[in-house]
Amino acid sequence: MSGTLYVVATPIGNLEDMTHRAVRVLQEVALIAAEDTRHSRKLLDHYAIKTPLISYHEHNEEARAEQLLARLQQGESLALISDAGTPCIADPGYRLVSRCRRAGIAVVAVPGPSALVAALSIAGLPTDAFRFIGFLPAKQQARRRQLQQYAAETQTLACYETPHRLQAALVDIVEICGAERELSIARELTKRHEELFNGTAVAAFEHFSAGRVRGELVLLIAPAPPEEPQGTVREALQKLRDETDLSWKEIVKQVARQFGVPGSEVYKESLSLRQDD
Ligand code: SAM
Repeated sequence: MSGTLYVVATPIGNLEDMTHRAVRVLQEVALIAAEDTRHSRKLLDHYAIKTPLISYHEHNEEARAEQLLARLQQGESLALISDAGTPCIADPGYRLVSRCRRAGIAVVAVPGPSALVAALSIAGLPTDAFRFIGFLPAKQQARRRQLQQYAAETQTLACYETPHRLQAALVDIVEICGAERELSIARELTKRHEELFNGTAVAAFEHFSAGRVRGELVLLIAPAPPEEPQGTVREALQKLRDETDLSWKEIVKQVARQFGVPGSEVYKESLSLRQDD
């Protein structure tokens, strides 16, 4: 019988955020695959976990997945952890999990902290739906292109950013999403210098330009404010018909939302437009 791969979340700063189950599973498995074994050893020592560690990081993912899969197939149970938070969330692990799934090996989540979810849970921005895009690109051109792609997003946009690129990213956000767009920046979550900044993009730039930014951070961009309706309902219908591949049903829905009028009225107008066509 094959073993089980446990995907175990670990603290993002505060060691007390380790779950009882995470400690037990890490004690019981034959081997723990960790991004940086020296870094994880400190966490394991804190909980007196003696299980051997093996490295599993972005540079050896492919070869190591093969090895770990073989051990799982021989019946050993293993755990996967990352430096902090939940493995596979902007962290290595996806390849191993995917290979286990294809090989019919059980993969079990031992959930716990994730910087993304922690930031969303305290920011006060809409979370019923959100879009997570991992790290913003490091190069300005690529970053600006990505921001342009998501500037009109109607869900909260969540990303990870490094402290030394934050100011440059904020300049681009001010320019592309607008100076008044609301942001939340969660810095050093669960740690001594935890900070949550809430305010406009331009205020964020001023706040974080005062000195060197330190620590880890999650950047959340509020959804784009609804567009002011332009012209008449008929013109809006024509515009969406000409400029998008949306169905009439979707066009009617969007225009009704934009103008704040009943869908039945917009539907009637769309019928008359289609007749004229
Ligand atoms: N898998 C991890 C998770 O679930 O949280 C994220 C890994 S990603 C490589 C690391 C990034 O997460 C950091 O660069 C930072 O953007 C964010 N992060 C991690 N710990 C954080 C913390 N304590 N406070 C704020 N952001 C954090």
